Amino acid sequence: MDVEFNNLPEIKNEGLALDIDDTLSWTFGHWIGQMQKLFGNPENLSVEEIVLKYNRAQNVPYWQSEKAKAWRKNNIISNELQMKLPLIPDSRIFIDKISNVIPLVAYITTRPESVINGTKTWLKNNDFPTLPIICRPDGIPYEKGSEWKAKILEGLEQQVKGIVDDNPNLLNFLPSDYKGIIFLYNKYSVNSNLNAIPCKDWETVYEEVKNAFNGFTSNS
Ligand SMILES: [Mg+2]
Repeated sequence: MDVEFNNLPEIKNEGLALDIDDTLSWTFGHWIGQMQKLFGNPENLSVEEIVLKYNRAQNVPYWQSEKAKAWRKNNIISNELQMKLPLIPDSRIFIDKISNVIPLVAYITTRPESVINGTKTWLKNNDFPTLPIICRPDGIPYEKGSEWKAKILEGLEQQVKGIVDDNPNLLNFLPSDYKGIIFLYNKYSVNSNLNAIPCKDWETVYEEVKNAFNGFTSNS
């Protein structure tokens, strides 16, 4: 996959990046209730159980009909929907504390560029810091989102020292010598030789960021 770095917003500092969906906003969780009603819940799982078991709507075997895919696709490209997503309240509390340990430098999200305005509005409405937002270019399909994001992290390794992200699939696309730290939010375990730390909640993210970056000073 070719990833364009010339068009990225400028990252001015060294520090930590943040994912948005299911890390700051309860995106998949918000969808699940609706998808269960529309497309079924044969395993009778709670919202939390679905998140833990499948991580993404695209991994839920009984939500693969054309209708379900179309529904999902429409949501992904809706600016309207991005603005209405529920906040994960602890994210708001702990990123303030984290920013005292290491600068926050960017949002890196597999959302398409076409919803950047809805995303900016949501971040502003929820009082998140204004930082560059790196979105998946419209030319890269949703299914390639993790691969794209891994390439971005690899290319920005000198500045972006790690990311808080809920998506373990990212680890499959990072090179084995990648030095950044992946703080895997809302995960209890991780199977990878990379610097990936499972963090069951935001308080754990904060503790692990302190362990990893205490006394952090930027070289730039
Ligand atoms: Mg995410």
